[in-house]
Amino acid sequence: MAKAITTIRQSLNYQSQHADYLAANHALFNRVVAFYFEVIQAHEKVLDLSTKEALTALETLTHATSKNGAPVMPLTEIAQDVPAMFRRAAINAALGSARSFYSSLKKWRTRREKAEAKKARKGKRKKFTERPPVPPRTWNKSVPFYAGQWKERTDSSILLKVWTGTCWSWIKVRTLGRGLPDGVEKGSPSLVRRGKQWWLHTPLEKTFSSPAKIDQQVTTKAQTRICAVDLNLDTHLAVCTVQTVEGTILATRFIGHGREISGFRKQQLGRIARNRSKTGMIAISEQDNADLWCKIKQVDEQIAHLVSARIVQFAQEQAATILVFEHLGNLKPEKGKYSRRGNSKRAFWMKGRIFIYAKYKAWNEKIITSRVNPRNTSRECHRCHHLVIRYNAGQPMEGYTPGASLVLCEHCSMQGHADRNASLVIGQRLIARSQEPLKEKPPAPVRRAGRESKDSGVVLSQDAKRESRPSPDDARHGDGNGPGTAQGRRRRMGRPLSAIPHQLRLPLE
Ligand SMILES: [Zn+2]
Repeated sequence: MAKAITTIRQSLNYQSQHADYLAANHALFNRVVAFYFEVIQAHEKVLDLSTKEALTALETLTHATSKNGAPVMPLTEIAQDVPAMFRRAAINAALGSARSFYSSLKKWRTRREKAEAKKARKGKRKKFTERPPVPPRTWNKSVPFYAGQWKERTDSSILLKVWTGTCWSWIKVRTLGRGLPDGVEKGSPSLVRRGKQWWLHTPLEKTFSSPAKIDQQVTTKAQTRICAVDLNLDTHLAVCTVQTVEGTILATRFIGHGREISGFRKQQLGRIARNRSKTGMIAISEQDNADLWCKIKQVDEQIAHLVSARIVQFAQEQAATILVFEHLGNLKPEKGKYSRRGNSKRAFWMKGRIFIYAKYKAWNEKIITSRVNPRNTSRECHRCHHLVIRYNAGQPMEGYTPGASLVLCEHCSMQGHADRNASLVIGQRLIARSQEPLKEKPPAPVRRAGRESKDSGVVLSQDAKRESRPSPDDARHGDGNGPGTAQGRRRRMGRPLSAIPHQLRLPLE
């Protein structure tokens, strides 16, 4: 079985004195967590136990019962009458932090030993200067509410048992925003503070039978649909195509407005640069710049979420079960002003985020995500795999202009949109790779004299280099006059390019 977890975040509406209660409850919880962290530090052995056993051991150490009269480190020295479920939540939080702290400490020790062994062996004088990890000095854990600490949950309200500062009491808070869907398993909600506002986060767990592995899907079912995505930094942020393993092209979608986003970001970066030149120093925390940074970040984040959602939605509509991207490659630094350099960097990060978000969103819909070698994906013809001519509309059809919107293959006279061609090649690579996973280094795409120019070198990521290269012969599935090809192209021509719904407007002041 496979699992997918999503978190529903609901803003809370409460009386003003309740805000003080929530804060007091939060403070108490963190005091108890800190206490248990200390108990664990004093009894490191509990970390060798399973979480359940460790919980019992820690309760024995701290909690008095009729059988366990005098605990070694009583919790009552910190707080009286802590409800069992509150205590357990705190113990689990402390255990989590302790495990993470001790595992990084262990790694640090290993590194130190290695460095010292090396020093002894080679007689090097270089000292091991890396500092050891330190245990947390302050605590700011969100308070989870285990069963028994909350009740009477409806779509718009919930009762929570909290420490008011003087006693334990039930308070009712209203939940705003999206309600909880039915038919999914709900985890324990937790109270999260963002600035002055309190939120309730509820994890939802969905279990489903795991989808078959990509290799299996591709090799056993010719009708498996693959949605391939070409991410760009210019007009169309993403171009998606759906094709079957056999090579029938079913649909294309352009997700756009990249130029406006890029323009917006560049403008903000330019403002920051001008502010900096005025103050003569880099003042990131300065109020004005902080606002501008925040704006850029928000827009990038929002766009990454919207674009990834649109990609997954398209894959779902087309009943695709595999989503494939190309590896990102390395960032090619651009020359020019600060705003230009910074802009291309952030656009590059955004591509990475779109991939990450699309991956988890796809998984929630049982779609598996993969990546392929990015080498020459835009230069290959998706039909015959010869190198293509890339040009802009209204310009002579010759040479290779990076970033131009149209391609022409002289060999098979395939003509079309450059990004769509690239996305088809990406899909074919995945098919080729799965069908011939062991093939080491197949020949590079067919090259003709004079076509390849130096300045347009393709940058490969380390990851991508390790992958086996797809063979052009094996990828030759979307060939010539397949029924889907023409259809796919018609759709593309007929579809308006503004594929992003109205929500994706830029907050331009
Ligand atoms: Zn061709």
